[in-house]
Amino acid sequence: MFVEVILNNNAKELNRVFDYEIPKEFEKKVVVGCRVLVPFGKTDKLEDAFVITVKDKSEFANKFVAKMIPELSIEEERINLAKLMAYKYFCNISDCIKLMLPPGTSSKERNSWEKEKKGKFVYLKISSKEIEELISKNKIKSEKHIRVLKFLKQNNGIYILDLETITNVSKSILNTLEKKGYIEYIEEQIRRNPFINKKVQKDKPKKLTSEQGKAYNDISSCIEKNEFKINLIYGITGSGKTEIYLQLIEKALELGKTAIMLVPEISLTPQILERFLARFDDKIAILHSKLSSGERFDEWQKISQGKAKIVIGARSAIFAPIKKLGIVIIDEEHDSSYKSEMTPRYNSKDIAKYICEKANCPLVLGSATPDLSTYQKALENKIKIFKLTKRANNSCLPKVEIVDLRKELAYGNISMISLKLQEGIIENLKNKKQTILFLNRRGYSTFVMCKNCGQPVKCPNCSISLTYHKYENKLKCHYCGFENKVLKVCPNCGSDNIQYSGTGTQKLEEEIHNFFPTATTIRMDLDTVSKKNSHENILNKFKNEHIDILIGTQMIVKGHHFPDVTLVGAVLADSLLNIEDYKAVERTFQTLVQVAGRAGREDNRGKVIIQTYNPEHYGITYSAKQDYELFYKTEIDFRKKLKYPPFCDIIVVRFIGSNIDEIKKISDNVFKKLNSLVNKNTTYIYKPCASPIDKINRKYRYRIIIKGKAGTKLLNCIYKAIDENKIKNKTSINVDINPNNMT
Ligand code: ADP
Ligand code: ZN
Ligand code: ZN
Repeated sequence: MFVEVILNNNAKELNRVFDYEIPKEFEKKVVVGCRVLVPFGKTDKLEDAFVITVKDKSEFANKFVAKMIPELSIEEERINLAKLMAYKYFCNISDCIKLMLPPGTSSKERNSWEKEKKGKFVYLKISSKEIEELISKNKIKSEKHIRVLKFLKQNNGIYILDLETITNVSKSILNTLEKKGYIEYIEEQIRRNPFINKKVQKDKPKKLTSEQGKAYNDISSCIEKNEFKINLIYGITGSGKTEIYLQLIEKALELGKTAIMLVPEISLTPQILERFLARFDDKIAILHSKLSSGERFDEWQKISQGKAKIVIGARSAIFAPIKKLGIVIIDEEHDSSYKSEMTPRYNSKDIAKYICEKANCPLVLGSATPDLSTYQKALENKIKIFKLTKRANNSCLPKVEIVDLRKELAYGNISMISLKLQEGIIENLKNKKQTILFLNRRGYSTFVMCKNCGQPVKCPNCSISLTYHKYENKLKCHYCGFENKVLKVCPNCGSDNIQYSGTGTQKLEEEIHNFFPTATTIRMDLDTVSKKNSHENILNKFKNEHIDILIGTQMIVKGHHFPDVTLVGAVLADSLLNIEDYKAVERTFQTLVQVAGRAGREDNRGKVIIQTYNPEHYGITYSAKQDYELFYKTEIDFRKKLKYPPFCDIIVVRFIGSNIDEIKKISDNVFKKLNSLVNKNTTYIYKPCASPIDKINRKYRYRIIIKGKAGTKLLNCIYKAIDENKIKNKTSINVDINPNNMT
């Protein structure tokens, strides 16, 4: 007997199948998915591998499998999924298997989390009373020292890294406290628990409304009958979708089954976790990118040993090793984070469909603004739809106003804050209510240009202008991370007449301070969210310290619930609209509806102000009306006319490399080959051309766009065309199906 194996190794040249013979004594045990060790290369060094095929003959095998490690095997079904993904997403099987393995299965990772298993814990050496005395007698003055000691009073014996993150201090602050003899470090085993310090009150299921009940009954009967079905819960924000999810999961658990719930990475907030913890306490495992590999390993163990029955996580949590699956829920199903923009370029919605079908269980998609193609399928009865039309706690939807920024200019208002928005903020400050301002650009000035020669100041590595960051006084590239000191003179002509224009969140914050000097503000964007929990910290601070105004990018719009927010301003709604992408309008609509949903979620009716230079654009007017159906009708007509998804798939073939001539030649060859292979009646191929941002990180970028159906026929043609041109040159080719962006 023989096997085909895939090495568990990142090296590109090893990313293919190798044949080995199975020793007699292993023959009975070997199955697809088996973990084995195989001798490899000249020195026969043992390599870690997975069996992906078992067969009777082999032309190539000349060595034997050395060892089997059944306890580290993965299921055959998973290997099949990995094979399918590798084909569909143009990547290696091992890349896909990696998503299905616990962390720590490569030796490098294992080292890092084993080291992490022991760590320093911080204990108080003085009593609470002594702390109070030291503070009252002014013997400890530093605000940071006080913060740490006060925190330790409540949470004595905390892991040092958690302490640093939660209290937002550096290690040197702690070291000072240790030297003074206030605290001590004790080496201990780490009991990792991502739910640290979350004391939640138990919560009971609510009596469902009739709309909620209908969805619940239908879907829970699918769980009972082991029936695969795709369902869409389409309900405005606050209509009680999450309550349905909670009760469906409870049902699955009652039946001895398990559940996976996917949420967009950014909305995996303490608030949503708390709601789940309040119902299910420790039966939950969470998986997201901010976990350390040790935490991730522990969560993975909890799942595979059956201790956790519910997995909550971002995109890749769909691969969690859960057994007896009873339901998969994808919240905010329209969110772009479900599609991976890195290899493997999978869409977790497609994976979820596959997994639910194999597990014979329902898939639930939830959204207030469903993906156009999901809604289309629902209208065609391919997906079962449940509508929730009322807010569950009877709060009203906010009142939305559109402000025409062109008129502001005419009034002589050159600030980013319209008169309407100013009035709104003044009133909110007076009434001690909170405000959220959304602007999808970070930094201070988003455009830096020499007024003398007219040249924009560009990143040396990318064809994109640099953004000015005032707080650090630096110019930054948002694509490759390049940073430079602020320029005094133009690199092109030497003039010192450099103009900063375009607005980002930093400038907005400054303007708010100029207008409202007494208002407190907090900013949330990629620049302020870098440490492990600071996303959470910023939101908690906004809520608990009653900060007047939260200013932020995209990351503030998702799922948070702030009872005191009664005013939301979208400062420049057009910033999403002007992106060269067929999805731009859909994304604008979804974002604005979601932003608006942050206002007035409880007793106070909320107000939303959308500022725009395109007040008549349907993407904006319909979001102001919060009318998804009207939007859908208009947008789907456009898509049909222009033949865009959901009426076809968009496949982007990208060519990336440092040699522009080679890129041109290869892309041209691929284009010609494709044209000779595909069916011209059903597929349209655009000529190769430079991507909208044609250089990132010193690499040139070209693309071919294909419109057609991404089925086996077309995919096979693409394989043929690129395989012929792949070998021997340095240009890398990647294929992306229905990508989030076309760059
Ligand atoms: P969504 O997920 O659609 O935004 P939620 O499930 O978060 O909506 O519900 C919004 C608010 O209404 C929450 O505070 C929730 O507890 C409450 N709620 C949901 N369903 C009910 C119900 N049937 N009865 C009373 N309150 C409910
Ligand atoms: Zn110049
Ligand atoms: Zn750059």
